[in-house]
Amino acid sequence: MSPDAPFRVLPKLTSRNEAFWTGGRAGELRIQRCTDCATWVHPPQPICPSCTGKNLETPAVSGRATVATFTVNHQEWIPGSKDRYVIAIVELEEEPSVRLTTNVVDCAPEDVRIGMPVRAVFEEREDVWIPLFAPDPEVAKRG
Ligand SMILES: [Zn+2]
Repeated sequence: MSPDAPFRVLPKLTSRNEAFWTGGRAGELRIQRCTDCATWVHPPQPICPSCTGKNLETPAVSGRATVATFTVNHQEWIPGSKDRYVIAIVELEEEPSVRLTTNVVDCAPEDVRIGMPVRAVFEEREDVWIPLFAPDPEVAKRG
């Protein structure tokens, strides 16, 4: 964690959400999925919202996503906090209807675009690994 990393309210781990918040330890973005009807479910739920089945697993996904929308925060909510950062909603490659609210990091706020390919990276805080998204290095290489 860099010393200028922003203040974060950390999630409380439960048996239901633990795979999502700790998958980053192994570099994996883990998203809940119903084994009965194959629906992706996020945030984690006790039953599948599609078929009400209880057989939910949390496989690792590719971590690839697309920026659906974003905003640049200019407000210093916490004294001394970094003044500008990007709050984004990204759509997962596996299922675009699964959207994560996150930060786009490792690029200047003015370079973020809707439709931009991004890849999950993780910020370790205590016992959680917060999924953040950075420009996809493979897409950048292809130009
Ligand atoms: Zn289901």
